[in-house]
Amino acid sequence: GKVNTRSEAVKCENTNTLEINYAVNIQREYFKTDATVSYEFRLAQLKKLKQAIAQRTEQFAEALHQDLGRPEFEAYFELTVLYDDVKDAISNLKKWMKPTKVTTGLMAQPGRSRIEHAPLGNVLILVPYNYPVALAFQPLIGAIAAGNTVIIKPSEHTPACSAIISELLKTTFDADFVKSIEGGIEATTELLEHKFDHIFFTGSAAVGKIIMAAAAKHLTPVTLELGGKSPTIVNKDCNLEQAVKRILSGKFLNAGQTCIAPDHVYVHQDIKQAFLAKAKEIVLQWYGEDPIASSDYGRIINTRHFQRISSLIPKDKVIVGGQLNAKQNFIAPTILQDITVADEIMQEEIFGPVLPVLEFSDLKDVCQQIEKLPQHPLAMYIFTQNKVFEQTLISKVRCGGVNVNSTLMHAVNPHLPFGGVGQSGMGAYHGKYSFELFSHKKCVLKSATWLDIPLRYAPYGTKVNLL
Ligand code: NAD
Repeated sequence: GKVNTRSEAVKCENTNTLEINYAVNIQREYFKTDATVSYEFRLAQLKKLKQAIAQRTEQFAEALHQDLGRPEFEAYFELTVLYDDVKDAISNLKKWMKPTKVTTGLMAQPGRSRIEHAPLGNVLILVPYNYPVALAFQPLIGAIAAGNTVIIKPSEHTPACSAIISELLKTTFDADFVKSIEGGIEATTELLEHKFDHIFFTGSAAVGKIIMAAAAKHLTPVTLELGGKSPTIVNKDCNLEQAVKRILSGKFLNAGQTCIAPDHVYVHQDIKQAFLAKAKEIVLQWYGEDPIASSDYGRIINTRHFQRISSLIPKDKVIVGGQLNAKQNFIAPTILQDITVADEIMQEEIFGPVLPVLEFSDLKDVCQQIEKLPQHPLAMYIFTQNKVFEQTLISKVRCGGVNVNSTLMHAVNPHLPFGGVGQSGMGAYHGKYSFELFSHKKCVLKSATWLDIPLRYAPYGTKVNLL
């Protein structure tokens, strides 16, 4: 099923341009051969992918350490989530692909109705730096499961991981089915000039706007997995020590560079002092007095982000942490007290290991403050034993997803749709929802031929009132 479209591509001088044109063209032609559609093909590709990932876990762990200073445990956290997703897809693909039968309303009788899941076609996946492996492969799993071809643009900020991703894809798949195109803004900009059938973007809201505008030129639908300030609300009736540990582990994983990291915490005023004392104690217990020497803690991706995050730390408000090392892009796990919504750090997504602690006494105020954020949060965390408190926040706050009494866990359950709302993103994936995202729900109504009701044929005569 390979079609040579080289003659079209050679018109361009720039190598990258040539590579991109060629990749787009051969995938477009390959999709038209229907090779990607059958259950057997999709299953075989997912199995190949699973094996290819399993064979490279040590390499990926090493690369994550090189790119992000990621401790081994945290590297395996990312790889395990991804591996679970590919296993889930392999075991459920047949069930997902089965057409769904639905009832047929009176107007359309006699007939039978069903929904088939059709591949969209040629998909583009754009990957950020913070979970460079999982955020390349998790959408890929869904796109393959749904029968599409895929071009992946890995992050230019994680060269070690991106090199393995490209090598893996090259040795596992034919380029007319799945291909990696490496490069920075220029490569993305060029890719976006082409017409895709779907673009899946994970990254910042600012770039999300660029992606959506470029997609609009071709009327290409997009999925945007963005960020935002995810709030955490800690009620006075919570299990304090457990809450502190679960918040800090979600915050300091990957040195705070997690899209759903708890961005800041609202603590009930009655337990604020106890919360701060416990948080300080745990940070020292986990990372020591000299956290740069800890082997359980990562680094900031680059100088630009190191400077951005460092500048958000008001020294007089640090109760633990605050140490910086520019050479290593190291920012210590840091907790800030006496922060209000007016502080600079409350104006944008922190995306680093700095946790501002705010206090509250009235739940209504918290809800109002969260509603005032420039974006609806991607995640919200609630620590309480009180169901009314919990449900009030869930009902009132517009946000992507919620984890009650822990952090991040809603994103590692493949049975929950993961995504944002409003400016934290559009569309949701993981597990079956990835398959649905990359499929078109094609409705099919098969009308019966054994009966022909003349009601809809002219002359209409007096057949007016059908109600
Ligand atoms: P980013 O938006 O800077 O980059 C993402 C991708 O877009 C990269 O592949 C990059 O090459 C490309 N890109 C960057 N600038 C571009 C431009 N001007 N034109 C075209 N393409 C461009 O994001 P990042 O800094 O790599 O990642 C951090 C952000 O991603 C945070 O805001 C975080 O919250 C978000 N994020 C969201 C999720 C999620 O699942 N919702 C997951 C991880 C990260």
